[in-house]
Amino acid sequence: MSAASPARPKGHDARRRILVRGLVQGVGFRPHTCRLARRFGLAGWVCNTGDGVLIEVEGSRELIDAFLRTLSESPPAHARIGAVEVEGLSPTGEREFRIRTSRCDGGGGAAILPDLAACPDCLLEVFDPRDRRYLYPFTNCTHCGPRFSIIEGIPYDRARTTMRSFRMCPACLAEYRDPASRRYHAQPNACPVCGPRVTVRDTSGVPVAEGRESVPHIVAALRSGAIVAMKGVGGYHLLCDARDPAVVGRLRRRKTRPDKPFALMVASLDEARRLGDPSNREMELLSSPAAPIVLVPRRAGAPDPHAIAPEVARGSPELGIMLAHAPLHHIVLRETGFPVVATSGNRSGEPVAIDDRDALERLAGVADLFVTHDRPILRPVEDSVARVTMGRESILRPGRGHAPLALETGRAGSRVILGTGAHLKATVSLASGGTIVSSAHLGDLDTLQARRAFERAARDIPTLAERVPDVIACDLHPDYPSTRFAVESGLRVVGVQHHVAHVAACMADNDLTGPVLGVAWDGTGYGDDGTIWGGEFLLVHDMGEVHRFAHLRQFRLPGGERAVREPRRTALGLLHELFRTAFPDEAPDLAPVGAFDGEALAVLRAILDAGTHSPRTSSAGRLFDGIAALIGLRQVSTFEGHAALELEWCAGASDGEGYPFRLSGDEPDAGNSIVVDWGPTVAAVIDDVRSGTPAGSIAAAFHDTMARMILAVAERAGIRQVALTGGCFQNRRLLESTIRLLRATGFEPFWHHRVPCNDGGISVGQVVWAASRPGEG
Ligand code: ZN
Ligand code: ZN
Ligand code: FE
Repeated sequence: MSAASPARPKGHDARRRILVRGLVQGVGFRPHTCRLARRFGLAGWVCNTGDGVLIEVEGSRELIDAFLRTLSESPPAHARIGAVEVEGLSPTGEREFRIRTSRCDGGGGAAILPDLAACPDCLLEVFDPRDRRYLYPFTNCTHCGPRFSIIEGIPYDRARTTMRSFRMCPACLAEYRDPASRRYHAQPNACPVCGPRVTVRDTSGVPVAEGRESVPHIVAALRSGAIVAMKGVGGYHLLCDARDPAVVGRLRRRKTRPDKPFALMVASLDEARRLGDPSNREMELLSSPAAPIVLVPRRAGAPDPHAIAPEVARGSPELGIMLAHAPLHHIVLRETGFPVVATSGNRSGEPVAIDDRDALERLAGVADLFVTHDRPILRPVEDSVARVTMGRESILRPGRGHAPLALETGRAGSRVILGTGAHLKATVSLASGGTIVSSAHLGDLDTLQARRAFERAARDIPTLAERVPDVIACDLHPDYPSTRFAVESGLRVVGVQHHVAHVAACMADNDLTGPVLGVAWDGTGYGDDGTIWGGEFLLVHDMGEVHRFAHLRQFRLPGGERAVREPRRTALGLLHELFRTAFPDEAPDLAPVGAFDGEALAVLRAILDAGTHSPRTSSAGRLFDGIAALIGLRQVSTFEGHAALELEWCAGASDGEGYPFRLSGDEPDAGNSIVVDWGPTVAAVIDDVRSGTPAGSIAAAFHDTMARMILAVAERAGIRQVALTGGCFQNRRLLESTIRLLRATGFEPFWHHRVPCNDGGISVGQVVWAASRPGEG
């Protein structure tokens, strides 16, 4: 093009098309780009596409370069730029920069932003009596509010959200159209005149209050010891006064959740610090835009008016605390002035309720009052659960602020792979073009509701990414609903062994390439030899190539799955492995033996001797359970990981030496793996129990032993990079002592950050592993 073209402003010698991928929609990226381009005197336009944000700029080369640098270096808050692709075009003589209404082209891959907690600016308005949004619970802006939970499709525009039925009033529309406003193109923008409303209903669904009148009703109910089901941003919560033992006990009975700790919601960071003793990093996490439940140490001797009922988290040295996140929570908690228990609005094992009628039905008999609103929730997004390990954040449950997770793997593949996860803590993930998108936590697939939520997500995640899967990756367990879904999908199926998926997830989370020694320790996973695995040391030379280097010594679980709920059965399995036919005569004095009557014991001994109904396992999680039973801590569990958690809680100070154990050297098992023999460990534990050693000392020494086993295998393998993964590494003491031990010996330990170490991370590992094996399926 000639510079003499009359239409072209002076200095406009270049035009570039820029595609920005990553978390760039719903974060005010377009107005930010528009302001920046105008500041640099550039012409052109910006729009959302299915791929991300597309920009065309025209002006001098130098200014375009400066614009690009500034855009990459200081994107809007909450945006995360994945990749930037730049292409040269011929200048067109455009004179202005503008925002174009979205177009729907593109091949998919635009990451959708998670729901975010109300931002400080919005909260100032909510609590300003002169503001038109005074006490309005649905206040939001481009920096905060719902996203993932209300999006029907992309590009992200109001017409494709559950806000489309609300017509903006002139004042809201003016903000929405004003590039200088914080609400410029804020899709869920709303106010008391035009937006959603809260309705309080009794247990039969009859409205008792609406709008602003709702708050006094909710507050009065909480004060009087009622259980309130409240619709939040991504689902219902059950709330009650955390100080009142009677109501917390009632909630436990009605929810059938006798022991598992409840989370707390508090009005402010100050309030959180009255209950817990968070580190600086934990305080940052508490007040981050995701507002996750953060596991923080309890504050010793919390002042009386704030003392919470022991029923909230009996026995736990930590509390799960989150800050109020939606404006409605802020408004209610400011009024009550006390912390509330805030637990997912479901019965134990079911997915969280998101639909009003469904909530009224399923939570009938649990809640005394229902707080509903008319902004529909499209998909469940629960509270994320996070903690800080060695100064770094780890997500244990992906939800608000962290789902959908978008992970760049840097390994672009041509195939689109859907991973269906395992059975507990279900998630689905999609890999395409070097990006992995992972769903929110979907619950355990034991109930019909959970399986429906899982199937919806399995369709939903590809739809949002605008990709059609051509391969489906699943667990090897033939009976998991997630495996059956994969087999019935008609797509090419790639089975990925459970612990291999754990290791692959940890590697992807840490951007690791091989060789890696993956330590995958969890409750149970289907091994590729038909036995139950769970104490695995997997050598990954490169992604896609694995060898089972070592595993814990196997033992039998009498009654199979029942042993998961009854650690006393697992303990019998350990004793039987140790004493064989002499069992249980060798150990009549031990707690798990005494926990059965003679008849039951005879039956269990018979099935152990015969090897029927008692699958063999190398599970580390079960070993923790068995020790908890042996030292008399817990014989029957009421939730997953219960006994092991109590063993961790009870562990006291130690010298770090631990109990003896053995590594097989000359006689590796048939599969050519090293066997880590806990026999001497359990024998030493029994000696200590008999000599009256306190449980806290035994538990501490046992944790040290498990960490030392990992070090011993790492030394035998001689691989520097050690990836710690699987549900057992939710055990803070085990994880931290293993990290310290490995570091002190020159190894480089890795653990999980954005992808859960538990089965919530399995779908990520499945797609990563399947993508690295192009020959399969
Ligand atoms: Zn805001
Ligand atoms: Zn309005
Ligand atoms: Fe697992």
